[in-house]
Amino acid sequence: MEHIHGTYNLQLVILSYIIASLSSYVALDLAGRVSLTSGRARHWWIACGAVSMGLGIWSMHFVGMLAFVLPIHVSYSTDIIMVSVLLAIAASGVALNFARRESHKIARLVLAGLLMTIGITSMHYVGMEAMSIPVTYKPTLVSLSVLVAAVASFAALWLMFYFNRRDSKLSWVYKMGSGFIMGLGIAGMHYTGMEAARFHQARIIPDHLSRQVEPEMLAYLITAGSFVTIGLTLFGNFINQRMSLKDQRIRESEQWYQALYHNHSDAIISVDRAGVIKGINAAVTTITGYTEKRVIDYPVEQILKHLDPQCESIHNACKWDDQEVEQQLFMAKMRNGRDELLDLSIAVIPVIIDETHVGSHILIKDITEETQAQEIIRHQALQDPLTGLYNRRKLDEVLANTIHICKENEARFAVMVMDIDRFKMINDSLGHSIGDIFLKEVSSRITSTIEASYPQAASNVTLARMGGDEFTMVVTGEQATEKHIVQLAEQIVEAIQQPYRLQENDFYVTTSIGIAMYPEHGDVADDLIKHADSAMYEVKKNGKNGYQFYTAQLDSELYERIELEGYLRKALERNEMVLYYQPQIRTQDGQMIGVEALIRWQHPIKGLLAPDVFIPLAEETGLIYEIGNWTLREACRQMKAWHASDGPRIPVSVNLSSQQFHQPNLVEQVQNALSETGLEAKYLELEITESMMMDAAVSTAILNELSALGVKISLDDFGTGYSSLSYLKHFPIHKLKIDRSFVTDITESHSDQAIVATIISMAQNLQMEVIAEGIETKGQLDILMQNECKEIQGYYFSRPLPASEVENSFFVPWRLFEESNSVVHS
Ligand code: C2E
Ligand code: MG
Ligand code: MG
Repeated sequence: MEHIHGTYNLQLVILSYIIASLSSYVALDLAGRVSLTSGRARHWWIACGAVSMGLGIWSMHFVGMLAFVLPIHVSYSTDIIMVSVLLAIAASGVALNFARRESHKIARLVLAGLLMTIGITSMHYVGMEAMSIPVTYKPTLVSLSVLVAAVASFAALWLMFYFNRRDSKLSWVYKMGSGFIMGLGIAGMHYTGMEAARFHQARIIPDHLSRQVEPEMLAYLITAGSFVTIGLTLFGNFINQRMSLKDQRIRESEQWYQALYHNHSDAIISVDRAGVIKGINAAVTTITGYTEKRVIDYPVEQILKHLDPQCESIHNACKWDDQEVEQQLFMAKMRNGRDELLDLSIAVIPVIIDETHVGSHILIKDITEETQAQEIIRHQALQDPLTGLYNRRKLDEVLANTIHICKENEARFAVMVMDIDRFKMINDSLGHSIGDIFLKEVSSRITSTIEASYPQAASNVTLARMGGDEFTMVVTGEQATEKHIVQLAEQIVEAIQQPYRLQENDFYVTTSIGIAMYPEHGDVADDLIKHADSAMYEVKKNGKNGYQFYTAQLDSELYERIELEGYLRKALERNEMVLYYQPQIRTQDGQMIGVEALIRWQHPIKGLLAPDVFIPLAEETGLIYEIGNWTLREACRQMKAWHASDGPRIPVSVNLSSQQFHQPNLVEQVQNALSETGLEAKYLELEITESMMMDAAVSTAILNELSALGVKISLDDFGTGYSSLSYLKHFPIHKLKIDRSFVTDITESHSDQAIVATIISMAQNLQMEVIAEGIETKGQLDILMQNECKEIQGYYFSRPLPASEVENSFFVPWRLFEESNSVVHS
């Protein structure tokens, strides 16, 4: 059969290619969309996409067919056209459905590719059947067209898969490029198919072609239609993309919010405006023990009723009027499921949506640990770390408070200030760590005494350590009467003077307590403390170890003390210090065998003052170092001067105070004093007391160094210290000075006689010299001589004298004696 040759309408061919490329672009775009959506939306997108894409491919095909102009009139059967349209849609549906899958197995790709190839090929060849003229086909070209369809299909599916995964700003450019390539494939398939077709002149118009459409018109209609469909689809996708981007952002921020809400360590209860719980997070269960099931849709009181105080206001805070919506903070306590009392900080935060208050979040923070830590810090700030007692700050607080209460109730209370006598000595000689142990022991003794004295009302006594060895007590309530206070003071004095076992030795200290009563002795804290202080100084002045109430008279004494201190600070530079010398005598022949340097202060107003008056003050103020150093030099200078002016070649004894003995550069100072004055070391004796040598190791080191200089050591006031005698043999001590207290009553007291005799024989056994102090009478001298005491010092022979008087009274006979001797010898 002769076939008819046709020509191509170029405009329509171009149009068909544009449609093919656009529908390919739509397909790729939709593939991306389909993979992003889920559920119903996805089915909807596949359906719409399949229609739009199918119509696109089909239009390309049909416009391509219409571009083929035959010299005869050709019309098309609408029924068959419809079938080919459906086939195109079905093929697109297969492709998009494939794009929906997350994983793309090769088998599925092959199946989808085949289905798509079948769809497109059958659409093409069914579409050809719609023509009103008979068509035959060249099998080879048909096969080629099928191959092209398959290549286009597989390419389309692979690209869809590819764009599913990629999401970049330039993806539309790639999609466009791929669309052109895919379009080329689809168009290629079509035109290969067309080449395979042979068109023949029809004799009879077949039945199914009864409803006919004009081709030219049809071509433009279809083109317009497919542009509209594709345009709408792209637009829809564009809008949807933007919408879903917004959705996605909302979803993401929702997830951020949920993560914060559920994982927040603070409990969060969300309530509506009526105060009904709408949500809680996990921390609510941790803190309150309530599970979500038990509280959701219940009034918030369900949880709040456990708070202490019952937070009416919290509940009210959840139900503000719209006008006054603001965050509110509360503090409360609550027992948790484990019956632990928790400290909570509660914030009620309004939730405002579109300017309407829709509910609140109640944020509950467990601040128990912070509160406890704060409490500990507060407590530490008010506590003395060494003894665990209150410190000065706390005492000031208590005192202010007590004054306030007692003023209102017209009640009395007592302030007791106490100081440990001889604490400095323990600290200096045993070191600070032993000093600390000692202070702890002292404070525990005071505490136990208070508890024993007031078993029912120990809380009426506030005890604080003010620093060093100073303690203060505030006694209130029924115990604040003179009678009770006296009892307490006596018991404390008694408790403190019991021996302390430190470094395997017994130590004895005493305490001095000053007492001031409110309101008689002052109605403000400063006055009370000041007055109790001056009462305490009075105790110290009168020999320590006791207590004393404040009296107005003490004020002037305290004032005097302060005044004296002022003068003492200037005494050295004003040359007011003088050394007196008390001769030491050999009993055998009445010869002066040494002198003890004893300091005096020529006070500008008070006249000559004895060391007892100012040495303790000098020790307290630290002036003792300067004064001690001066004494040492002055004594050496004087003795050297005497030696130089043919005075007797005798040594001078210098008293050292405890602080001086422990000063690190003592040896250096002694050495300097000797070298600067030129006195030979053997003419210097240093007097120390037993109490200075509490720490045997430290003392031995110091004494050895001093001895190494050639200086002699005397143990002053021997017998009055409490420490063990065993140290005597270890120390380089040359001389014992029997204390005056044993000599005073020696004529009457047999025990004193026995003590003195024992000391003398002990000294002899230890190869030490021994001298007795404070001999005032012949009787005393006789007994001492009977006990073989060879050296003495006392008023009986001489009081301490100024240097010039020593020269006058003791040197002349000495010189005469020496001179007469020399005469005899010569
Ligand atoms: P001390 O070292 O035991 O000195 C002996 C004290 O007894 C002296 O008192 C002396 O005057 C006094 N005395 C001597 N013989 C008799 C007597 O027969 N009867 C009586 N009733 N007393 C007698 P003074 O000079 O008042 O010294 C008192 C204490 O002051 C000294 O006791 C000594 O411990 C200390 N002292 C004196 N001068 C210094 C000094 O330069 N430095 C230091 N750190 N202390 C000194
Ligand atoms: Mg002395
Ligand atoms: Mg003495």
